[in-house]
Amino acid sequence: MEHVLAACRAAVGRPGRVLALTGAGVSAESGIPTFRGKEGYWTIGAREYHPQELATHQAFAAMPWSVWAWYLYRRGVCRHAEPNAAHTALVRLARALPERFALITQNVDGLHRRAGSPDPQTFAIHGDLSLMRCANDCVLDRFPIPEAVPELGRGDEISLEVRALLRCPRCSGPARPHVLWFDESYDEPRFHLDTVRRLAASAALLVIAGTSAQTNLPWQVVTLAERAGAAIVDVNTEDNPFGDIAARSGGCVRAPAATVMPTIVETIVDALAP
Ligand code: NAD
Ligand code: ZN
Repeated sequence: MEHVLAACRAAVGRPGRVLALTGAGVSAESGIPTFRGKEGYWTIGAREYHPQELATHQAFAAMPWSVWAWYLYRRGVCRHAEPNAAHTALVRLARALPERFALITQNVDGLHRRAGSPDPQTFAIHGDLSLMRCANDCVLDRFPIPEAVPELGRGDEISLEVRALLRCPRCSGPARPHVLWFDESYDEPRFHLDTVRRLAASAALLVIAGTSAQTNLPWQVVTLAERAGAAIVDVNTEDNPFGDIAARSGGCVRAPAATVMPTIVETIVDALAP
């Protein structure tokens, strides 16, 4: 841990942005399952599905109400969860570095927002479970899922009344969850593709926390930051491919994010004090 803190101190003394890149592991201690464990599985009819099969446009096209049921279940789990010390630490960093810090998150659970991470410094690159949008793309806007839409339990069906609420407010066509599915591409208007790439290319320090390095834009972020000469730090309970990259610059911490992030943030904020 000490060598990681030393790398953070040195990096913030150099010009460039301070970035955090978070994944599902950051919310694991808030009780939200990652996609890795067996809690991630979901049964439809007689079959068990892995999240990578369900979080696809293909699955939504074939069985929209089963996919919606999975999202409404997960939305309920997230609404009952509370932000943890890792989320709170990142709010502190954003406030301490209003011009220099940005948070890039793959999480769709809204916990960074609910902890208080400021919108202009927070980039949700995989969407947000509390939002929906037009399934036919009649407009780019996102809409809150109406409050009247209930939380679903495992195995619950979506009633006809609720189906009627899950419509595009503009064209009345079908709505879909505002998330990036595994068979879809990033873009700027909905998922901040260009902005996030630009941020990464000007990084002095990148703190990665709780991601398994399975998705494309996080890879671009880490690669661009490495090319920019940033110190890269990886916080995760397990080894992962980003850890190999971090090992050759800032270093790795193999511990829960909620335990470690407050100390890392404290060190960065202290290093900035005049
Ligand atoms: P992932 O499930 O693939 O990996 C989670 C990572 O977190 C693993 O590397 C694991 O070792 C690590 N981890 C587990 N507990 C941890 C802890 N307490 N502290 C630190 N690290 C811990 O998640 P991912 O890499 O974010 O990518 C999967 C996709 O799943 C993303 O697209 C994301 O949008 C989506 N997803 C989001 C949520 C959420 O919003 N909370 C939950 C599940 C999946
Ligand atoms: Zn529409």
